[in-house]
Amino acid sequence: METNLIPLISQDEIAAAVERLAAELDRDYRRRPPLLVGVLKGGFIFLADLIRRMKTPLTGVEFLRVSSYGSARISSGKARVLMGVPRQVIQGRDVIVVEDIIDTGLTTTAVLRYLLRRHPATLRVCTLLDKPARRRTPVQVDYVGITVPDRFLVGYGLDLGERYRQLPDIYTLED
Ligand code: 5GP
Repeated sequence: METNLIPLISQDEIAAAVERLAAELDRDYRRRPPLLVGVLKGGFIFLADLIRRMKTPLTGVEFLRVSSYGSARISSGKARVLMGVPRQVIQGRDVIVVEDIIDTGLTTTAVLRYLLRRHPATLRVCTLLDKPARRRTPVQVDYVGITVPDRFLVGYGLDLGERYRQLPDIYTLED
């Protein structure tokens, strides 16, 4: 069955948010080049655009894979790190977690717990999208691109059963 997509955030609005976040990170990390840790899969497009807008040299880019919703639109309530990063890569580094969207907060909580056990020097969170209405656990989010309403979104890395990730704009699904 075809799903109707309703435009919510244009590629120009996304680009402006990415530009602003890159400038904020450049300001804060000028003196301590960071290690960026992208959360797969949804965050890969945002991470790729973000680092190309940043002027601060990076000390590295790593990826974490966290168990996802599968093809369902509702969170299972659990998040587990499926593919991690070795301790020696994280230890003593200024780490920024890069997320596509923070919804219930369960994924970010699992990611932060995982990374903290590997003793970074500092640890912050940068997300393109924040959906605070759905939070089930409080998370400190240091950099937020765009706050979004409580709707299921697709496009710009966000999928529904692996579809729609490649769309340059962000859409909601018609009910
Ligand atoms: P949380 O653990 O905060 O509930 O959810 C984080 C993850 O759930 C995101 O990284 C993303 O993969 C997925 N997610 C949350 N909200 C949405 C949404 O509106 N659309 C899509 N496609 N995925 C979402």
